[in-house]
Amino acid sequence: MKKLNVIPTPEEVEMLGGTVNAAVLDRLTKQTDETGTYGDEGYAIEIDDTGVTVTAKTDCGFFRAEQTLKQLKTGAEVPCLRITDRPAFAYRGFLIDSARHMQSVDELKKLIDAAALFKFNKMHWHLSDDQGFRIESERFPLLNSVGSYRDSSDFGGEHIKERYGGFYTREQIRGLVAYCAERHIEVIPELDVPGHATALIAAYPALSCRRLAIPLETKQGIFNNLLCAGNENTFDFLFELLDEISELFPSKYIHLGGDEAPKTYWEKCPKCRARKEELGLKNYDELQGWFTNRLIARLAEKGKQVIVWNESLNGNNLDESATVQMWMDRRGKSAVWANRGSSVIACPFSYYYCDYPYSMTPVKKTYEYDPVFEGVAPIMKKHVIGVTVPLWTEYISDFDRLCYMAFPRFAAVAERGWTKPDNLDYESFCRRFAAVTPLLHRLGVKPAPQSDWDPNTLNRLTKTIRFFKDKIDPQTIKNSLNSTNRQE
Ligand SMILES: [Zn+2]
Repeated sequence: MKKLNVIPTPEEVEMLGGTVNAAVLDRLTKQTDETGTYGDEGYAIEIDDTGVTVTAKTDCGFFRAEQTLKQLKTGAEVPCLRITDRPAFAYRGFLIDSARHMQSVDELKKLIDAAALFKFNKMHWHLSDDQGFRIESERFPLLNSVGSYRDSSDFGGEHIKERYGGFYTREQIRGLVAYCAERHIEVIPELDVPGHATALIAAYPALSCRRLAIPLETKQGIFNNLLCAGNENTFDFLFELLDEISELFPSKYIHLGGDEAPKTYWEKCPKCRARKEELGLKNYDELQGWFTNRLIARLAEKGKQVIVWNESLNGNNLDESATVQMWMDRRGKSAVWANRGSSVIACPFSYYYCDYPYSMTPVKKTYEYDPVFEGVAPIMKKHVIGVTVPLWTEYISDFDRLCYMAFPRFAAVAERGWTKPDNLDYESFCRRFAAVTPLLHRLGVKPAPQSDWDPNTLNRLTKTIRFFKDKIDPQTIKNSLNSTNRQE
């Protein structure tokens, strides 16, 4: 079947013969799908010389159909056809890191429009990390006056002396949540705890084990600054902050991070040690599980579900209601989690991380990764609820760079998330992406040129080495490896 110039490829396309002028697509009739054949996001489109009829059950279905029509319209002539379409996975996310570098609201809107074009339905918004806290807080003003600003930046091998920071106001956040809702995208905020919490601790040192005033971090890395699990004040603070975040974000999910949390200070802290003893826990990974479960229980009272990174499984005591986002899981715990009937999201580091260069993660590699990852039993595959493609921004401070790194890899993951496996075809994806590129340009989003997508072996090697040499200083790599080894 010759594929239409549409990403993601629809489930079924039946050619009715002949073509019509693209202007016919302006004559649109909407029909409600009373039987629910196409589900909450699916739709049918029929195009003939009299116009186009779209059938869907929900506004979301009509919106997704509109994205297909927009892409079909890029040619002067459109084939007469019938499309029926539904997503393969319910959860199709993109992650944007606004903690390391912020994007303006206008830039985020451009990115959201581009994501909507490819039928993403979740924006995982990383708003809190060692290098900055980005949500305006009424209850904890120091999170902004202290926690939102770092003294300098040392990403990408250069030292930038200027103070860097800021935060999104409550009004801006509400505006963006509404903007996404119009595009049927749920905004899921991430408050990363108990690690990656330097910004919280810089603002309120009493939340940490050592209770020392520390500055925000200015480099990439894994840091020992954890919120103290033995101190009740930590939970009072987090409960209140999560109440505030829950009010701002109407999403079903809240992301609680849980990744890269070395237990160095927990092991030395009298309060954390006492807590571990009192609860009869075997180790500090179990203490992290207990820590996270308390927050899960609190959020459940508000009707919220929690997503966490896969390290949260290390204690083997995570509440089964949590959805686990698999990014780097050498022990295969995420697959076991799915096999037990809990939910997982595929977000594999070596395939989906768009902050790494195309030489390291070519588009073809991203496209061909199967989100039903190794170890998930075939009969349990429905517990892989979907995918997330992340864009971390330690090394991405401007919007053009961000778009270059994101596209086409975002579109490749979008297609894996939506399209049934039988309809996947990388060569046709490349052609179709070229056809829809003018639509991205119109949004102000400039993808990487095709010559950069899949470098040859020599280029892959030399460009990857150059990236690590230029961007990441040896001490950061050493620290990260040490910390990862400790956790493994
Ligand atoms: Zn402690």
